[in-house]
Amino acid sequence: MITRRAALTGLIATISAQDLKAQTKNTLFVSSQSSFLHDPGPGWPDRPDRISSILNALQAPEFITLSKQEAPSAELKCILRVHTHQLITLLEQATPKTGLSPLGHDVTLNPYSLSAAIASAGGAIAATDAVMCGKAHNSFVATRPPGHHALTNQAMGFCLFNNVAIAAMHARALYNVERIAIVDFDVHHGNGVQDFFWNDKNTLYASTHQTPLYPGTGELNEIGAYNNIVNAPLRRGDSGDQFQDALKSRILPRLDLFAPDLIFICAGFDAHIHDPLGGLRLLDEDFRNVTLRIMEIAQRRCHNRIISLLEGGYAPQDLARSVSAHIKALMEA
Ligand SMILES: [Zn+2]
Repeated sequence: MITRRAALTGLIATISAQDLKAQTKNTLFVSSQSSFLHDPGPGWPDRPDRISSILNALQAPEFITLSKQEAPSAELKCILRVHTHQLITLLEQATPKTGLSPLGHDVTLNPYSLSAAIASAGGAIAATDAVMCGKAHNSFVATRPPGHHALTNQAMGFCLFNNVAIAAMHARALYNVERIAIVDFDVHHGNGVQDFFWNDKNTLYASTHQTPLYPGTGELNEIGAYNNIVNAPLRRGDSGDQFQDALKSRILPRLDLFAPDLIFICAGFDAHIHDPLGGLRLLDEDFRNVTLRIMEIAQRRCHNRIISLLEGGYAPQDLARSVSAHIKALMEA
């Protein structure tokens, strides 16, 4: 085990060296020091040690070639492509000078939470830039707070800003990417992503998730205004067999047919069998398998371009193993 400080020092030390290697296409890992400062307090599942466990796991020799980058802060104009001024003002006003400030809807802020959320969005944007500029085949962003529950005008479910929506809109604005697919295998349904892209015929949102479970959305009949939403709900106790069946029968054929120019993954690992919040029974290898299946379509349809963003996963050691399996697969592009 290494300490958090040592992990951070190692991360920072690799940035400039890895930047020099940027001409070689590979997998980019984006993280943020501010992820460690956003601490909603004891007993909160979304804790800083989720990220330190991942950084510890990435010290293994097989990750030596992984490029690493510190997440920059997102520009306000990028956040405003998805969220309202009112939400940003509310978050600024609710940020405490010391201690904790509950905001309702499963969100608690400390003095650093808003800057961590701005860096989470910035990490997603930086990963998008790297992939779209050809500096990396694909990228995994391990920041917190996560994003897929956040609505345009409301933070909820540990999420302040909808990182994947912000990155997708950035890709569209800056690189004229037309067809964007978002695959979400978090145990919870990404209501914020579905809501934001409901009326967008050029964005496919496809999700496997447990139901019934928070936030209560994601039924089969929620298909979007242009049949651009695909939900594949799973039942409590379902294992990798049912997960892989849902992928094969509902998610992957639609993803392929959609012919995306760019694929995002809302990579939540709380469908793992040991996760304290979810009731599914996925194993590390299930996360590897789903990653490889998405990569096959990315290779065929969009020059391997995948940007994967950490969402849930609340058993830190299991999360670290699942993320390792996911990144190892991404590195095979
Ligand atoms: Zn989740």
